[in-house]
Amino acid sequence: MNEFEEQFAILQRIPYKETDLLLSVLGKHIGKDLLTVRSGRKIPNRWKSSFSEGSILLGRIMKIKNYSILTGVINEQYVPDKYPVWTVLALEIMAKMPSLDSSLFELLRRFLQSEGTRKDFDQFLVSFMVKESLQPSLNSCVVCGERRESFPIKASPYLGGYVCEKCGTAETEITVVDYESLLQAYKKKGELTDNMRAFWLDCLESELNAKLVSREGL
Ligand SMILES: [Zn+2]
Repeated sequence: MNEFEEQFAILQRIPYKETDLLLSVLGKHIGKDLLTVRSGRKIPNRWKSSFSEGSILLGRIMKIKNYSILTGVINEQYVPDKYPVWTVLALEIMAKMPSLDSSLFELLRRFLQSEGTRKDFDQFLVSFMVKESLQPSLNSCVVCGERRESFPIKASPYLGGYVCEKCGTAETEITVVDYESLLQAYKKKGELTDNMRAFWLDCLESELNAKLVSREGL
């Protein structure tokens, strides 16, 4: 029988059929996966987490054809007692990514077990974007690849970065103050400015082709 133990973080819980539950998870070895929990909605009191989002569990998973079924929980390694807005946003980002590499598990675990402050989120976001190569490209044109000469430049959050004059018009003007010096400031302070964070989240939304609804609560 193809059953194994796995540590995973719950990104999203999705009610399924009468009593079942689907869990979108990021596993330490399996990466992003969808687990079926049979009768998962009937046993809310058995575990403290009740399979709530942001929890980290050690469980047993069985693979049957293309399905992953959670056959047991061995222990709960982390259960959140509150949901800061930044935690909700991080979980929404991870839930909306079509796939996630297992190497992101540690990054998410560290963030979930932090206080979930804006600064914690910024560290999570920067590491995540860099690991996924999603950072806005501001050193060369995203269309033709030509190196930029100097700031200010025009950039498009929708195209993912700098657009040279030959390749068209972009809606956002980025100056030294808006990008490079702020990225340096981030490295020194470990926090993003509101503009910088918004710019990166715009890039992420365009990459995902989806709105991040929990941004509205910020
Ligand atoms: Zn160009």
